[in-house]
Amino acid sequence: MSDPVIFSGIQPTGRKHLGNYIGAIRQYVEAQDRGDPAIFCIVDLHAISVAFDPAELRERLYDTTAILLAAGLDPARCILFRQSDVREHTDLTWLLSAVTAHGDLNRMHQFKDKSARQRELVSAALFFYPVLQAADVLAYGAREVPVGEDQRQHIELTREIARRFNERFGETLVEPELRVPELGARIMDLQEPERKMSTTGATEAGTVYVLDEPDAIRKKLGSAVTDSGREVVRSEEKAGITNLIDILAVARGVDPAEVEREFDGAGYGDFKKAVAEGTVELLAPVRERYAELRPDEAALEAALAEGAEKARAIASPTLAAVRDRMGIGPRR
Ligand code: ATP
Ligand code: MG
Repeated sequence: MSDPVIFSGIQPTGRKHLGNYIGAIRQYVEAQDRGDPAIFCIVDLHAISVAFDPAELRERLYDTTAILLAAGLDPARCILFRQSDVREHTDLTWLLSAVTAHGDLNRMHQFKDKSARQRELVSAALFFYPVLQAADVLAYGAREVPVGEDQRQHIELTREIARRFNERFGETLVEPELRVPELGARIMDLQEPERKMSTTGATEAGTVYVLDEPDAIRKKLGSAVTDSGREVVRSEEKAGITNLIDILAVARGVDPAEVEREFDGAGYGDFKKAVAEGTVELLAPVRERYAELRPDEAALEAALAEGAEKARAIASPTLAAVRDRMGIGPRR
């Protein structure tokens, strides 16, 4: 089989955290060698679905671009662009909304979680977000979507939208497969290990940011919530320890069982110190490289513009085909 088209999106909100890095960004870097092409989109149009500040949005977009480049995305080997630069995404969103069930959108966990947290406005954009996300993926005929576990339901909906479109209008869109990492698909908040580490709605002390200084990382991991036991083993009753084992296993590139063996009988203190050092080492190269890249906004813009052009060349024929099948516009 030929190499798959791989697509994923990431929001330019807040500061990207360890969960984003382990669950998503790490996979993007690896996908560059397998994807033909590998396409990564900074989804600024998704970011406006919750409360946001315009000036900050632009800053965060550059931050996110620089983080992705610092983590190892190479514009010569992938397509990296800003969602709003490629208008095909929004055009396609509306067309796909005609084959999206309102009842399906109503069932989305993310909408339920995020709408419950909004203080001022629950926007229609927050409700409609999954249709835009489906358009993001389907515009490129992506076969694979590397994401964290929290995106499972959205990708299932994307498949359903593609299926319904193809049934109604003829085979046009590719049903994508979800790809979550074997380890670290759901990194949990360090203070509240029952919920995922998250840009919105997680605790500040429980969130390790990619750009955190080593001492901040040590402090957050040192005060990570565990349990009253002593065993460094994974289990359902030990959400905090399980999360830390996963983090260290990812940082060291080993099996979690190896971490359990090494810290058998060691106690939580030493174990947490090791997790902190592993995390510092995992993130330090990204933070250092980021500091070099972030100041040059013209270079970041140039990389995004180049990416947008390549993205448009793929998305535009898809949009044309969808319009044609739906009887929109003049006969082709
Ligand atoms: P928000 O809470 O506002 O949705 P987020 O932290 O989920 O923000 P996104 O930009 O929406 O950040 O997600 C980017 C990618 O990171 C997605 O693929 C998502 O599945 C993944 N991801 C997010 N949080 C985690 C986590 N805790 N563990 C693993 N992967 C995660
Ligand atoms: Mg998210």
